[in-house]
Amino acid sequence: MQTNFKKNQLENPEINTSEKILRKCVHCGMCNATCPTFQILGDELSGPRGRIYLIKDMLENNKPANAKITKHIDQCLSCYACLTTCPAGVDYLHLIDHGRNHVERTYKRPIFQRLLRNILAIVLPNPVLFKLIAVATNIFRPLMFLAPSNIKNMVKFMPKEFPKSKLPNNPVFKPKLKVVSKVALLTGCVQKVISPEINDSSINILTRHGIEVHILKDIKCCGSLTHHMGKEASAHKLIEFNIKKWHDLYEKENLDAILVNTSGCGTTLKDYGFIFRNHPDPKFRKKAKMISKLTKDITEYLDESIKLDFIESSKKKKYRVAYHSACSMQHGQKVHEQPVKLLNKTGNHIYEIPDGHICCGSAGTYNLMQPEIAEELLKRKVNNIQKINPDFVTTGNVGCIKQISMGTKIPILHTIELLDWYTGGKKPDSIKS
Ligand code: SF4
Ligand code: SF4
Repeated sequence: MQTNFKKNQLENPEINTSEKILRKCVHCGMCNATCPTFQILGDELSGPRGRIYLIKDMLENNKPANAKITKHIDQCLSCYACLTTCPAGVDYLHLIDHGRNHVERTYKRPIFQRLLRNILAIVLPNPVLFKLIAVATNIFRPLMFLAPSNIKNMVKFMPKEFPKSKLPNNPVFKPKLKVVSKVALLTGCVQKVISPEINDSSINILTRHGIEVHILKDIKCCGSLTHHMGKEASAHKLIEFNIKKWHDLYEKENLDAILVNTSGCGTTLKDYGFIFRNHPDPKFRKKAKMISKLTKDITEYLDESIKLDFIESSKKKKYRVAYHSACSMQHGQKVHEQPVKLLNKTGNHIYEIPDGHICCGSAGTYNLMQPEIAEELLKRKVNNIQKINPDFVTTGNVGCIKQISMGTKIPILHTIELLDWYTGGKKPDSIKS
């Protein structure tokens, strides 16, 4: 794509990066074919190619965003299916991040939208606050028929129960036998409130295989949520804090990896090096790169670095398992083969979901902010799952678990729960027979 940025514009490192990305696009439109919002809305500006034009126009002409542009940028799920499809290697991930930052800097949203985004940005990364609000929501749930539709939609996603972790609140979990390696585990913000069993299974499977697990108690939200809202300053504050903390731990304990079992967060951690590529302190840039390099999805690490002891049992029931590949995992991190390979080793029948490259509609806070599109995507995902008729579904992201469970009674597990069970851990409570 031809670009017409002026020399002084290109002196801005952010514009410089985006200009290089834009120049790679050859307008072929192949990305539109796998874009969920283009499929649903059928409008050029609701697909990646249209969004690329909108971003180019804003940046090149130094134009502020307006309501129309903001609508099309906001409708993007950041699912990155277009990234996988694009034959020219257009780095849409970083372009849309720049687009969102530009919108946030130049456009004043209507008051309700601003309020909603600010509340989500404060509440979701804070587990204590999130739990408090969830408890309060449960008290007022019977009166929710009086609330406006946006609030009703949010309440739908609030947890009704708060299961307890079965493990102590330790900063370090040591294996019973010899320590083979040491890792840090990111336990997630909302995840530890609504699904502590995911972290329990992660710790159990790791320690059973000789891996010492460190959990930094004061680590903050990975920054993903605010980063994808274009709230750059608040995201950077959280990320800078985390980089320093993890880097200190890495140096002290000689960590082998930082493991993530929420793939949305993993994608952001792997991007820390890029996010801080222009940081004025070269030492900090190096630290950010190191944290990205150390970050692995837990299934990626188990597949590449550990030989798991799967329990052989010809008597064990063979389940039909549908694997839902979270977008952040398959498109954002390009981690797909590894979890499928591990799941196949359990001896169950593993099926990939038809049209598995299309998002379920979860996408961070997308299902809260764009409920109509998210609901349509959920309907399509559930239809495709039903074609397989599985006993249960597994996936590597708590957001997808929550979203898909809104559309079906089929149990949904985190991949790590199944792997833990089949390597000597306990059977997940959600599997009845
Ligand atoms: S597929 Fe790639 S090159 Fe083609 S229009 Fe989309 S982003 Fe541009
Ligand atoms: S990230 Fe997903 S929703 Fe956004 S343009 Fe790409 S394919 Fe479409």
